[in-house]
Amino acid sequence: MVKYGLRLTPSFMKPLSKNLIILVLSLVVIGTIFSAANVKREAPPETIGVTALVEKINQDQITKIEVQEDTLSAFTADNTEFSIKKESNESLSELLANYGVTPEKISKLQIEVKEPSVGMSLLRSFLPTFLFVIGLSVVLWLFIRQMQGASSRAMTFGQSNAREVNNKKNRVTFAQVAGNPEAKEELSEIVEFLKTPKKFVDLGAKIPKGVLLMGPPGTGKTLIARAVAGEANVPFFHISGSEFVEMFVGVGASRVRDLFQKAKKAAPCIIFIDEIDAVGRQRGTGMGGGHDEREQTLNQILVEMDGFDPNLGVIVIAATNRPDVLDPALLRPGRFDRRVILDRPDLKARQEILATHVLNKPIAKDVDLKRLAERTVGLAGADLMNIVNEAAIFAARRDKKEIEQIDMLDAIEKVIIGPERKSHVLSEEERVMTAYHEAGHAIVGHLLPHCDDVHKISIISRGRAAGYTMSIPGEDRKMHSRQEFLDEMAMMLGGYVTEKEIFGDMTTGASSDLQKATAVARDLVTQYGMSENLGPRTYGQRDDMPFLGRNSHESRDYSEKIAEQIDQEMAKLLSDALATATRIVKDNRPKMDQVVQALLKHETIEKEEFITLIGPAVKAPKISPKPAQS
Ligand code: ADP
Ligand code: MG
Ligand code: ZN
Repeated sequence: MVKYGLRLTPSFMKPLSKNLIILVLSLVVIGTIFSAANVKREAPPETIGVTALVEKINQDQITKIEVQEDTLSAFTADNTEFSIKKESNESLSELLANYGVTPEKISKLQIEVKEPSVGMSLLRSFLPTFLFVIGLSVVLWLFIRQMQGASSRAMTFGQSNAREVNNKKNRVTFAQVAGNPEAKEELSEIVEFLKTPKKFVDLGAKIPKGVLLMGPPGTGKTLIARAVAGEANVPFFHISGSEFVEMFVGVGASRVRDLFQKAKKAAPCIIFIDEIDAVGRQRGTGMGGGHDEREQTLNQILVEMDGFDPNLGVIVIAATNRPDVLDPALLRPGRFDRRVILDRPDLKARQEILATHVLNKPIAKDVDLKRLAERTVGLAGADLMNIVNEAAIFAARRDKKEIEQIDMLDAIEKVIIGPERKSHVLSEEERVMTAYHEAGHAIVGHLLPHCDDVHKISIISRGRAAGYTMSIPGEDRKMHSRQEFLDEMAMMLGGYVTEKEIFGDMTTGASSDLQKATAVARDLVTQYGMSENLGPRTYGQRDDMPFLGRNSHESRDYSEKIAEQIDQEMAKLLSDALATATRIVKDNRPKMDQVVQALLKHETIEKEEFITLIGPAVKAPKISPKPAQS
């Protein structure tokens, strides 16, 4: 964030300095013209006609006349100067004689004939032309330079602008990548290939050509790829898939050619193609408009990967968060046949990631990374880095010398839920409504055994939410039981139920709760086989990977009749959840009023205070095998 301003300066300077040169130049030119025009302007002598001159001569006022070409300068005894113009084909004496000045008077005059000053007059006559030519050449020069720039840019259009990074300063090593032990292990093999290829070649082993890094955004794919290059200490060519896709067909393919050529010269090295799904989408599916350019680029990548000798030491690493859309040709042996998965970090990994990011920051003693890791379930490495950065900003704005736990906690909430909106003032009525709504979530969640622990309740608006209840699972779990889903749905409906029970009315504030609850109900029925009537099968095919957390599109593989049943089952699950929540809200009205009073007074309640108000949470019994039936 802070570095950004620094980085701006150089690119800003360039046009500025160019403009500055032009400005100075034009100032000089203008100045010269003015000063040239101003030469000898200081005290121009009075200009008189020939008749007047003759008169003055006849009165003996003039003592001296200087002739310079067609200009006469007449001086009186007290050195006053007069200027007179004459015709050029007439000499001075002829002129005076013609005007009837007697030879006697002429002989009294001191006449000096001056050579015309060559330099001065030349300069005067040529200066405008000279300046004009200079001006013209400057303009021409700028113009030509621009043209050359454009043409040389056109010439390098087909070249890859892959950046080669391998300097000591920003060298990344595995030590900077926290967590992901399996990925690091897989990739340290690649490091060894790059360091000592001979060992493998001697045994007849083929060094892999391509490694595909897969994982959700922000899990450190780019980081770990750079770490591989850093560990092996080889050049690293970094290019992003979208850089291949240009306006002109064929550019992508020629950039690929150029990239591989550069890499072969620099071998052993790493080519890193970031976001390869931009070019590597399945061909011929028509998805994304059947882009010709992309297909050509992809073909070229395949050709190049097949083309080079595996033992050359060029390893292509590609990263994507959409492995499901990649063309199968990319994934076959001999291409990206090695696959490394980077998953969202678990509790321990999150703690490690936080630790690497606080390393070079002043951290107060009260900062408890484990507690922070607990509060950041589901976040990726990039989010955690962001949290530490936000915490540093909070600490700085609060004029602290060290980052404290409270800054970290505030940063987590800012990143997860959104920035606090102090200006978003709720009316008293809305405040009370929000307090009851959140208290409803919290109490239902607290009293149902399978819900996550309530860590915080707040009626301060953040992001789009008027208030929020923060509940966090005690541990990272890969599996969820049916009962957990049922309790979770009840908790989601807790706010809605409370509004209905306490006020006899409902607000729009519950709409996202309803969406979430509906989605859970749908998954229960269609994905997990957890409904009683529809049984153990899935409904609808989703072609995505589960860890992407997004269903791109779903194709229906069931009948209308089943669709109706699904709706019924979902409605039943939701109405059961509603009943559960309603029961709890009705039974605990006095406690709820207490929580609401506390909320209205303090705006937020932490876990400890909540428990003193409402008693300890109900814990789920441990699941154990049923006894055998005889
Ligand atoms: P991706 O390429 O997977 O989207 P990046 O590699 O760009 O993610 O990660 C963004 C930033 O998040 C990194 O620069 C790093 O600071 C941080 N980060 C992500 N994962 C980790 C990790 N495992 N350990 C340390 N930092 C990480
Ligand atoms: Mg990346
Ligand atoms: Zn709610």
